[in-house]
Amino acid sequence: MPDPLTPEQRHRCMSHIRSRNTKPELKVRQWLWQRGYRYRLNVRSVPGKPDVVLRRYRTAIFVNGCFWHGHSGCPKFRMPKSNVDFWQAKISRNRERDQQNYQILLQNGWQVIVVWECQLTPARFEHTMWEVELALNRNFLAINNKPRSYTLPDEESLPMAAEPEETYGNANTD
Ligand SMILES: [Zn+2]
Repeated sequence: MPDPLTPEQRHRCMSHIRSRNTKPELKVRQWLWQRGYRYRLNVRSVPGKPDVVLRRYRTAIFVNGCFWHGHSGCPKFRMPKSNVDFWQAKISRNRERDQQNYQILLQNGWQVIVVWECQLTPARFEHTMWEVELALNRNFLAINNKPRSYTLPDEESLPMAAEPEETYGNANTD
């Protein structure tokens, strides 16, 4: 079966997928910026060089092209008809590498948000970004909601109660 794209089209398609500052990433960044989120881009020291790094939220966002990163079950992900073995191997390597990067980040206390290109179509964009914001807020609360020890000003005068000390939520001490 011949490749449906001419070599030139194929080249343009691939170089588009490869390049940084592709449109889907820009859409996500613009949206975040307009909502007041401040971030860094493609931080090399962070595994997988996430497209957006929000340190305050300890969150890395990856905006993944559906073809290049092998979005399974996605209508945009269609294996080229020629060189199937080559593309299959390449894409499954990309997938594995993605998973490894996500794992390293998670193990280091980072949260990972993956946004797929197909989730950024005009019809789905708002909903997708709403979910991103929800995840960011959740992450922010998880970082900042650690239990604190309060000292009441009149602690001495409070009646003593023989109750075990309460711990709120998951009392991580770190
Ligand atoms: Zn997709």
